[in-house]
Amino acid sequence: MLLRHTPKEVADRKALTINPAKTCQPIGAMYAALGVHGCLPHSHGSQGCCSYHRSALTRHYKDPIMAGTSSFTEGSSVFGGQSNLLAALTNMFTIYNPDLVAIHSTCLSETIGDDLAQIVKKATDDGKVPEGKKVIYCNTPSYVGSHITGFSNMCCGIVKGLVEHTGVAKDQVNILPGWVEPSDMKEMKRIAKDMGIKFVMFPDTDGVVDTPQTGKFEMYPAGGAKIEDIATAGDSIKTLACGSWASEDAAKLLDGNFKVPYEVLDIPVGLSATDRYVQALASAAKISIPASFITERGRLVDVISDMSQYLYGKKVAIFGDPDQLIPLTEFLLDLDMIPTHIVSGTPGKRFEKKIKELCAEKAPNVNVKNGERADMFLMHQWIKNEPVDLLIGNTYGKYIARDEDIPFVRYGFPIVDRIGHSYFPTVGYNGGIRLLEKMLGAIMDKIDRDAPETKFELVM
Ligand code: SF4
Repeated sequence: MLLRHTPKEVADRKALTINPAKTCQPIGAMYAALGVHGCLPHSHGSQGCCSYHRSALTRHYKDPIMAGTSSFTEGSSVFGGQSNLLAALTNMFTIYNPDLVAIHSTCLSETIGDDLAQIVKKATDDGKVPEGKKVIYCNTPSYVGSHITGFSNMCCGIVKGLVEHTGVAKDQVNILPGWVEPSDMKEMKRIAKDMGIKFVMFPDTDGVVDTPQTGKFEMYPAGGAKIEDIATAGDSIKTLACGSWASEDAAKLLDGNFKVPYEVLDIPVGLSATDRYVQALASAAKISIPASFITERGRLVDVISDMSQYLYGKKVAIFGDPDQLIPLTEFLLDLDMIPTHIVSGTPGKRFEKKIKELCAEKAPNVNVKNGERADMFLMHQWIKNEPVDLLIGNTYGKYIARDEDIPFVRYGFPIVDRIGHSYFPTVGYNGGIRLLEKMLGAIMDKIDRDAPETKFELVM
């Protein structure tokens, strides 16, 4: 019993978070920055923060994550980090030659009140940004929000710093994929490409954090959205913003600054959300949906109907990021499963209301909470009071899964004890089959393990 001190009785906590279901803002900012080709993310704070952000991403992606740090010491912590950042910019452009440096703040530099806009302007005025190179920035105070807030803030930084408006309309759609895996971004692009749609996707970590082993270290891998392509996003016909938490603010900026209308969609997880993604692409580009997508969709529907006896009525607990939990809840309902406990450490945007609306008909008693006190401790307590048949979430769920003997599917960020997420998408119709396969595998492994000899079946 790893979590033997978790009591069953749920007490109202005003100020204590135990095992949060989220992580730190700059990790999201760093991940978003890596989605621009030739970008070196930079953490304006202490070395310890930067090491943590890099290691969190490296553990999840099993790839080296490069980033700079302002390396605050006692002096910069008291007097501010301007001189450190100016020196860092000179060093980074001289030694590592990035096309772009994407700066995010940390708790420390935010508390001091360092003004990133002013420091970047000074660096530019002082000639510390070489000709043709760019510096963007965003504020990521980690005592509010979560890694998703940081991701969203850097998406806004990308729009503010890289998008231009030439006035010449381009027949293309902006796709803001939200915080998903590189495999998911690849699949979202594949769907748009197969529909014959021109698009600009950013951030795009496909080919950046899932790089092949070639025996040669590449400081800037081949993938990522190209700066010159992002620059054209101000001339696009529409923005599809996947995930309200991660992408909506950047889409609003594109609309406000460049008059590119936007539509906020769910990340295309599961059947219904993928239907809406495909339909939104078709509507934005004014084309009809190719027949090949009817086939793709049909395969997912076929798996659902073939295996429904193992899914029907099963109670599921899920935790993670709101942009993923909302379409995942909808997918579970489409599968006739019962979302039972739902927790996200990321605050805001009427998450609980949205989930309750989705579950009103089929799972009206769902427990749902987001924000600071929506933590893994609460999730464990809820499960103790109402056990579930399946737990879905990041690696931190393995403690609860082990203690309560629940089949567990790793999904979300971070996954630090399994591989696959970088390479096999869980978005789109094909991704829906992958997700379903993982869920069925976990459930059926338990059936096999627990079946008495008389009920142990070869064919399931
Ligand atoms: S101090 Fe703040 S920015 Fe640094 S690692 Fe901790 S939460 Fe993140």
